Amino acid sequence: MIDNGFSIKETDKRMQRLGVAGSDVSAILVTHEHGDHVGGVARYARRYNIPVWASYGTAAMMKNFDSVQCFNSHKPFELGDISVEPILVPHDAREPTQFVFKSNHLKLGVMTDTGSITQHMVDVLNDCDALILECNYDREMLLNGVYPESLKQRVMGDWGHLDNQQAIELLQHLNTATLQHLVLAHVSEKNNSHDLVLDSVSKAIQCDRAWLEVIDQEMGMAWRNLTTNIKSNETLHA
Ligand SMILES: [Zn+2]
Ligand SMILES: [Zn+2]
Repeated sequence: MIDNGFSIKETDKRMQRLGVAGSDVSAILVTHEHGDHVGGVARYARRYNIPVWASYGTAAMMKNFDSVQCFNSHKPFELGDISVEPILVPHDAREPTQFVFKSNHLKLGVMTDTGSITQHMVDVLNDCDALILECNYDREMLLNGVYPESLKQRVMGDWGHLDNQQAIELLQHLNTATLQHLVLAHVSEKNNSHDLVLDSVSKAIQCDRAWLEVIDQEMGMAWRNLTTNIKSNETLHA
């Protein structure tokens, strides 16, 4: 599990929808200390006795935790049979990270809560088999929207969030041909629309709109399958 901003009840409801239980969770990774990401982690971890992982900086900002296991945000580490590579991102938190997960020759990238694109992000996210990517806001909607000026500046700033165009720019730096799934996430309910995200991303990377998914804040998303394309080693050794 990555982050959790929900109550135990709401989390259990969402887990049930996916056919899993809290007791199935082997670890919770916390990306950073903002409430929508960490607010529900301590109680859920305590309820189901789940180990919690975070960078040293994030852990230092996490209150009310029995224990937090720290990872070095410059180094990959193992959780079961998954290799986790933290990616430091420019966001207004103490030591925020996002992740790349590798298992069984497959690579999943998760990238939200970043105000700008770094070369390091591009390097680490390249050649993913699946990617969950932030499309937080549409610039025009944010500028003309209801947020107070200071919040607009925060969101748009280099340590804020990616807008639709920045997300597209990041995608244009990546090899998207390897992607089996591209899911757009952390979409603002006030400053963006699912249609806008689907339209602009599908046009930019020339894919079918229906191939994309925008994660719904209420419903989340269903499981997706990643399949290994085993033409490399196994064919060679056959
Ligand atoms: Zn945040
Ligand atoms: Zn966030």
